[in-house]
Amino acid sequence: MKFELVKLSYATDALEPVISKQTIEFHHGKHLQAYVNNLNNLVPGTKFENADLETIVKESEGGIFNNAGQILNHNLYFTQFSPNGGGEPSGRLAAAIDAAWGSFENFRKEFETAGVGLFGSGWVWLAKDKDGKLLITKEVNAGNPVTKGFVPLLGFDVWEHAYYLDYQNRRADHLKELWKIVDWKIVECRF
Ligand code: MN
Repeated sequence: MKFELVKLSYATDALEPVISKQTIEFHHGKHLQAYVNNLNNLVPGTKFENADLETIVKESEGGIFNNAGQILNHNLYFTQFSPNGGGEPSGRLAAAIDAAWGSFENFRKEFETAGVGLFGSGWVWLAKDKDGKLLITKEVNAGNPVTKGFVPLLGFDVWEHAYYLDYQNRRADHLKELWKIVDWKIVECRF
């Protein structure tokens, strides 16, 4: 299977000032493109030749896992934002967040705390378990909740390449700003 760079549904400057055009161009056009190229070079001749991305992430290790994991992570990441995003989730997802954390505000705080507290590179995710219960997971490096049997719903990238050009070392400020561009309709569909 030939993996491809996920297409953006918005212009590269559309998420400014939360994420700059320059960051999108490097993050999507260079970093993610490199993971796609790497995986396409690594997979031929392995048992993963006809496997889909999620299967590879669940069953691989080493370089194949790292590149496949980062493609899955970034495909979810780049498609969850919109220049018209922000606000709060509604419907079933809102009810599930209230059930798990008491309020959307509490969820947001816990999510940001998890992201700030993750040492080094990785991801913080809102995920659901097999019973539909919500949880926050921290994943180092290329990790994704699918390896634990969870469904990823929303992911914030805390690798420095996601924010350093715009926020330098201020990861907490970056995470706080990201809520303004989250497209909750997309997240609700994943739920
Ligand atoms: Mn990234």
